[in-house]
Amino acid sequence: MWLSCQEIFEVSGASKKFSFAADFSENPVSATVAFRGPVQIDGEVANRAGIVTLDYTARFTMSLCCDRCLKPFSRDESFHFTHGLVTALEHDADDAYFLVIPDMRVDLAETAWTDILLELPAKVLCREDCKGLCPVCGQDWNLGGCSCDKKEIDPRWKALDGFFSSSDE
Ligand SMILES: [Zn+2]
Ligand SMILES: [Zn+2]
Repeated sequence: MWLSCQEIFEVSGASKKFSFAADFSENPVSATVAFRGPVQIDGEVANRAGIVTLDYTARFTMSLCCDRCLKPFSRDESFHFTHGLVTALEHDADDAYFLVIPDMRVDLAETAWTDILLELPAKVLCREDCKGLCPVCGQDWNLGGCSCDKKEIDPRWKALDGFFSSSDE
């Protein structure tokens, strides 16, 4: 959705609210991260003493896969973003805060997509203290322990163990 901001730029004190749903469900973020359903975007563009800002909240549900136990799950997210709108950058500001819009129009879907991707955590966990899977039998340790002896190390690692300790001194 294109948001025309020309009348906001021209009138100090002017503001305009907007609300729309963006559909990113066709574009998975990665193999294990995707949007489930539409992204609800509500916000306002306002001119305060000649400074034009874009403020909005993006609410959506993500389909995720835990990096530790591989369990698929979904999570509701709500992010708030603010941008300064300018028709040209005066300095070489390498800053995601400013959106340069020479034609005074904002592509809201494109802006939200970029903003949300920067905000998503690099590591996905189903919960902070996810215990993960047993590397030996694959048991989900969140559901209970397994009978594998955790001190029992694969013989290949044992060989490496000796290698590392002997190279110490
Ligand atoms: Zn997990
Ligand atoms: Zn096990």
